[in-house]
Amino acid sequence: MTVEAFILALKEAGITLTDQQIRQFEQYFNLLVARNEQVNLTAITEKDDVYLKHFYDSLTVLFYEKKLKVPGKTLIDIGTGAGFPSLPLKIVLPDLQITMVDSLQKRVNFLQEVVTELGLSHVEIVHGRAEDIGQKPKYREQFDYATARAVARTSVLAEYTLPFVKIGGQFLVMKGSAAQQELVDGQKALVTLGGTLQSDFEFTLPNGDTRSIQIVDKTKKTPKQYPRQAGTPNRKPIG
Ligand code: SAM
Repeated sequence: MTVEAFILALKEAGITLTDQQIRQFEQYFNLLVARNEQVNLTAITEKDDVYLKHFYDSLTVLFYEKKLKVPGKTLIDIGTGAGFPSLPLKIVLPDLQITMVDSLQKRVNFLQEVVTELGLSHVEIVHGRAEDIGQKPKYREQFDYATARAVARTSVLAEYTLPFVKIGGQFLVMKGSAAQQELVDGQKALVTLGGTLQSDFEFTLPNGDTRSIQIVDKTKKTPKQYPRQAGTPNRKPIG
């Protein structure tokens, strides 16, 4: 997807980028490719691919959860890596307050550089594991939204994300083609952690790749014993 196609596709979806936002995406791309030479950030480095598979793909959640655009919403992105999906969302929605979590210090350093270079505010970057941070009162059940892309299967992800979401908030599940099976396998975890599936959208990216976005409402408090110790959700998923 060329930069022009990216701008046009967003426009067709009702999102008109300003010159500053177009520049911020360009700066983000340049930093990603430059730092990727020293630190392993992404396997996707061709410009058209970054714009499609990282930038555009991250923004698709906006097409299905329109309330993200309401100013002042808070979003936590677990296992954000090089900033996906939260940084593209932040560029498009400057009023969104984002918290980015990753367990790898080198990626956290990269995120700090991008945030500074792009002049983004109301961004918090946290180094650590979701299982540890999810037990901290400062973060527990404090967010309108939690996202996580390409981090773990849904049964595991639910334990990484739902403890952060306040009642009335949403866990936005972004998946590829295995989404339906993961949802079936993750159903018990979602319910145990206080989630209720609200909607399930399937669509394709402009290149034909299948994607799915599920919106899970946080309807009950997460029991105190979750998330369990670091490593346990992945080793022994609820279910
Ligand atoms: N979300 C990004 C994306 O879509 O490109 C990065 C995906 S990358 C495959 C997974 C990231 O999750 C890695 O950066 C890893 O360090 C982080 N991660 C994995 N398990 C985690 C955990 N339990 N807590 C915090 N970060 C975690």
